[in-house]
Amino acid sequence: MNHLQHYLTKLAEEGSEVAQIALKTQQFGPGEVMPGQPLNNFERCHLELDDLWAMVEELNEKFGFGYAPNRERMEAKKAKVRKYLGFSIHLGMVEGETDVCEHPMALPANTGDQGRR
Ligand SMILES: [Mg+2]
Repeated sequence: MNHLQHYLTKLAEEGSEVAQIALKTQQFGPGEVMPGQPLNNFERCHLELDDLWAMVEELNEKFGFGYAPNRERMEAKKAKVRKYLGFSIHLGMVEGETDVCEHPMALPANTGDQGRR
């Protein structure tokens, strides 16, 4: 394993840790504090996001990874998640009300995302 491979492994590891604490926060709530831990779940999410971002910076600085947040892609992703949230509400899988009544891919205003969520 070379150094790039090592840092990519750490990137994946931190991504997994973000997933783990996000799921724990979903289960136990943002303010819950695990016994023996000084931080609540939202704060623990912040720590893991910092860890992930640190690995992105290392990849940028050491290996020319070249990552910078892209506002346009981020806004597109947010819109896509909102669209599929409406469909999840329609299916009864998420609480709330929506005017969505069919699969987003069936809508005429399909933006060509081909179902990637
Ligand atoms: Mg971590």
